[in-house]
This record gives sequence, structure tokens and C-alpha cells, in this order.
Amino acid sequence: MRVGVLALQGDFREHIAASKACGHDSIEVRTEAELKSVDALILPGGESTTIVHLAQTFNLYEPIRARINEGLPVYGSCAGMILLADRIIDGAAGQKTFGGLDITVRRNAFGRQVESFESDIDFNGKTMKAVFIRAPWVEQYSEKVTVLATASDHPVAVKQGNIVATSFHPELTSDLAVHRYFFDEICKNR
Ligand code: GLN
Repeated sequence: MRVGVLALQGDFREHIAASKACGHDSIEVRTEAELKSVDALILPGGESTTIVHLAQTFNLYEPIRARINEGLPVYGSCAGMILLADRIIDGAAGQKTFGGLDITVRRNAFGRQVESFESDIDFNGKTMKAVFIRAPWVEQYSEKVTVLATASDHPVAVKQGNIVATSFHPELTSDLAVHRYFFDEICKNR
């Protein structure tokens, strides 16, 4: 399988490394041709407003929306979760997303004073250390969405069809559980 990581801003290199560690051919995606060539896409952590702005500048905004709609398997971490949400609370004025997940995310949900922290969470039945950096949480979700992990009584990992999203950054640890879940449970069924 060929995995693409959107490489406009944020920690795309860490996702490339995690994807390679799972045994997949992995490329940085900055053009529509590169997007067309991949079987799965990862949206990294970073700054969601910057990433969506650059996606529009690079003419990738509509093509990414279209491929998600067609069922391309997509995983987003942190800013990537925001980019996959249909609705945002505390977004920048007019902030757009690619959408696809029938959720409302709250940006910087854990409070400004809590810039970053680590927490043990239960992800899909397995305990793992999760790194949160100015992280969102899921404020509201429809019945189409399955919750895979919670923290502070809010969903921080969810899936819906071809899409997985986490508020935290598994790419910043050596734990490959979330990437493996995405590749093995979501991608292989597509
Ligand atoms: N708060 C950032 C945003 O709104 C996300 C932070 C992150 O990806 N670590 O995009």
C-alpha cells in the first residue's frame, strides 16, 4: 500500500516515519498528482488554519475533499482531526475544513494553560501513552461515529467509515497502535 502524508505544514515527517515503520511505502503529498497516487492519506498535526490555507493555495483543497468523499482512507491527528471535522467550535473566522467526520470539534479544548500534556488512555482496548499539544476534543458526534478513546470525558479518538481521527499525536511516540489500527482495520477493508 502507498501511503501519502499531506506535507504542507506540521509534523508530516514523523507520520512518514511511523507509516514506514508499519511497512508501507510512504510519500509526502504536495501536489494533486501525488494525491492521486496514494491508497491512503494522513493529515498531520500542526496548525489547522495554516494547513487549510496552504491546501487552497496549492490547489489541493477540492481534490482532497473529493477523494475523502469517494472513500479514500484518511487518518488525521490533532490539527488533522480538526481538518476532518464537519463543524468547529473556536475556529478562526471562516475557518474551512475538508470535512467527512460528522463531529463538532472544539479547538484548544483542554485550555490555554494546558498547552501540552501526556496521559495514559485506553485506545480500542489497549492502554497507551497519548501526547496532547493544544489539542481539540470532540464536543458532539452523530450516530455514524464510533468513539475509540476518551480523555476528560470527551472523545479524543473516533472513526467513521473510511476516516480515523485522534486529538493526540501517536506520531510523536514510538507506539504504532493507532497507525496499525488505521492500516489494518480501516485501509484493508477498502
Ligand atoms: N490547535 C491546533 C490547531 O488548531 C492543533 C494543534 C496540533 O496539531 N498540535 O490547528
